[in-house]
Amino acid sequence: MLQMERIGIYPGSFDPPTLGHVDLIERASGLVDRLIVGIGINSQKTPFLDIETRTQALRECTAHLPNVEVEAFTGLLVNWAETKNCRILIRGLRAVSDYDSEFRIAMANRSMAPDIETVFLIARDTYSFLSSSVVREAATLGGNYSQFVPEPVYHRIEKALGRTD
Ligand code: ADP
Repeated sequence: MLQMERIGIYPGSFDPPTLGHVDLIERASGLVDRLIVGIGINSQKTPFLDIETRTQALRECTAHLPNVEVEAFTGLLVNWAETKNCRILIRGLRAVSDYDSEFRIAMANRSMAPDIETVFLIARDTYSFLSSSVVREAATLGGNYSQFVPEPVYHRIEKALGRTD
């Protein structure tokens, strides 16, 4: 029997990508044949790192994973997923506080696209406190945040904040 390729999408803002995101990508990439990291473009908000910078940084951080691709997308996630023949959405769960909003998003997505399943991976305990907003705050206020982000992200943040060339 011809086996269908299992394509997963891990969507998010990744603004900026953190070690928690990369850990999730590594773990999710082992569960599917192809994993597409989808960076959602939100034209309403001014991002911390622009879309091109986040895309390049995530590509560098996942270069060791041959079945992972990184792409930006606009519009509704489930519509984009359907164009990619993807039926698996991956999201991370850190604390119980993530559950409420994740539950609502997953239910809305299921109602719009019943064939697409959302799969949740529990955050690794060392990263369970880690969020993009913690990194944005620490970086902007001059804290030491290098332990929260992969190197390709660190140097791009320093550059965006005008601290290096
Ligand atoms: P969004 O803006 O869509 O919430 P994020 O970029 O903040 O996207 O996060 C993308 C996904 O990664 C979400 O499912 C989030 O729960 C998960 N995530 C964020 N940080 C971590 C972490 N430290 N460990 C595991 N998963 C995480």
